[in-house]
Amino acid sequence: MVIIFPELPYGKDVLAPYISATTLEFHHGKHHKTYVDNANKLLAGTELENASPEDIIRKVAGDPAKIGIFNNVAQAWNHSFYWQGIKPNGGGLPTGAIAGKINAAWGAYEKFVEELKNAGLTQFGSGWAWLVLDQGALKIVKTANADNPLTKNMKPLLTIDVWEHAYYLDYQNRRADYLVAFIDKLINWDFVNANLG
Ligand code: MN
Repeated sequence: MVIIFPELPYGKDVLAPYISATTLEFHHGKHHKTYVDNANKLLAGTELENASPEDIIRKVAGDPAKIGIFNNVAQAWNHSFYWQGIKPNGGGLPTGAIAGKINAAWGAYEKFVEELKNAGLTQFGSGWAWLVLDQGALKIVKTANADNPLTKNMKPLLTIDVWEHAYYLDYQNRRADYLVAFIDKLINWDFVNANLG
């Protein structure tokens, strides 16, 4: 299977002012595309060429000889997942089944927001903050660089890219402001609910 470079599920200018068209042009059009192109170059002619991205990620995780494949395939997967988790006029209080699950796990939406924001803020350097199901339990985790929860047999529900390229053009060093905007204005709860199923 070839690693796919997906179109964005929305126009480049509809997430502004929270994520600008310029950020999307570089983040999707350059960064994400480069991971996809590199992944396909590295996979060509190997025994992994016809595997799904999820299988590749699980198979090569932790193998020093395949770190290039892992980094590029995982980053391609992470970004495809990230774009689907946001939408214009999103964010705020969860809807659907995830709302009750968040209340059951954290007691209140505000506690959930605090932990999600903290995960993104405390990921030192580049990485990702995630809402996952771990053995059926809702959890917030963070990963460094290209790593993702598939390598730990967790089921990702939502991710926040906290690499500087995700926010620097719009927020410069203010990662906290990006995280607040992401949570308050952008989360696509329909996508999170679909991932629960
Ligand atoms: Mn990114």
